[in-house]
Amino acid sequence: FVALGADAGRHYTVIVSLDGFRWDYPLMYDTPFLDSLGREGVRAVMRPSFPSKTFPNHYTLATGLVPDHHGIIANRFYDVASGRTYSIGDTLTAKDPSFYGGEPVWITAGRQGLKAGVVYWPGSDVAIQGRYPDYWQDYARQPRLSFPERVAEVERLMKLPEGERPQLVMAYFEYPDYQGHDHGPASIEVRAAVEGLDRLLGMLYGDLRKLPYGADINFIVTSDHGMAQTSPERIVRLSDYLEDGWCERVLPDLPALVFPAKGHEDDIMKALDGVPHIRAWRKKDVPAYLNYGTDRNIAPIVVLPDEGWTVSENGKVNPGSHGYDPTSPQMNVIFRAAGPDFKRGYVKSGTFDNTAVYPTLCRLLGIEPAQCDGKVAADLLAE
Ligand code: AMP
Ligand code: ZN
Ligand code: ZN
Ligand code: ZN
Repeated sequence: FVALGADAGRHYTVIVSLDGFRWDYPLMYDTPFLDSLGREGVRAVMRPSFPSKTFPNHYTLATGLVPDHHGIIANRFYDVASGRTYSIGDTLTAKDPSFYGGEPVWITAGRQGLKAGVVYWPGSDVAIQGRYPDYWQDYARQPRLSFPERVAEVERLMKLPEGERPQLVMAYFEYPDYQGHDHGPASIEVRAAVEGLDRLLGMLYGDLRKLPYGADINFIVTSDHGMAQTSPERIVRLSDYLEDGWCERVLPDLPALVFPAKGHEDDIMKALDGVPHIRAWRKKDVPAYLNYGTDRNIAPIVVLPDEGWTVSENGKVNPGSHGYDPTSPQMNVIFRAAGPDFKRGYVKSGTFDNTAVYPTLCRLLGIEPAQCDGKVAADLLAE
């Protein structure tokens, strides 16, 4: 007779996000751990939501809602109702729960009696619905945990005694996005970051599997968006086409969000019609597959450069960027997972939407998901 604890029959889920980890980095660089994780479990290519940016997509992964439905429509956007500018670097707005719609998975789990531990996942240090994960870290607090310290924290959480041990652990790493911006996706710097993370996660995985309940852990590695090579040779200056005074406000990001001055929306649209290397839409005409037409803070005009192009006034361009159309392969991300609930040695053909992650996490945790935009990625799961 074996006494069954509260977690008996319950599996654990650990999900790691590596910022800006393009789907094909394991083909470009040496990633023995990620390769073996895919061979042991499942390997897939995942499509981010639009825009392919960090906060919109991490919060999509957490909620299963596209940015247009959860409200984090960019890393930085103008809040029409209050006149404030939401920015991920500004704690006053980034930690204001009123910006965060939907229900992140740590709350869904908490409501249903499970515990969650989250290491820096965007949104986890915000009092959404007035609550935090059971264990969390404040991204604004310096110094931040180093990458090895984050791994140690995941292991500490997974070694807590039953009753305190979270069934869901989520961890975030800023690399290789950081190197991708500064040096481009095909660089020795991205190689070093990717290969370093591969070794670090390999050690984490090995340690987790050695736990007495190691075989009960589902382990997922994924990302928020990819990375494209940009160039100072590929710049579109909106001021080359628009007259002074036509725009009240331009947020020149990816996409560029253009608020026309009163009466000038048509002028702007006419002027941008046919401009090479960009697509400009009125909010209501943004193609349906991008899901970017309803949120109150999406500007009346949305301007999206072609992949590798930049909308910029000052001519400054990083070697790498993202935010482009998520259907472009360079924006797609890695998805590898192994554990008791995943198929073994399964390679998914085609791509799947990252709105599937939230309902899939709920399925793994055995909890009821809140309403969301995605479906469980059932083909990745064992019978
Ligand atoms: P981007 O590549 O421009 O979409 O944004 C990536 C940046 O988001 C990273 O370099 C981080 O510094 C920042 N970031 C990631 N997580 C958080 C967080 N929880 N709070 C604030 N900023 C964050
Ligand atoms: Zn399970
Ligand atoms: Zn990112
Ligand atoms: Zn980035």
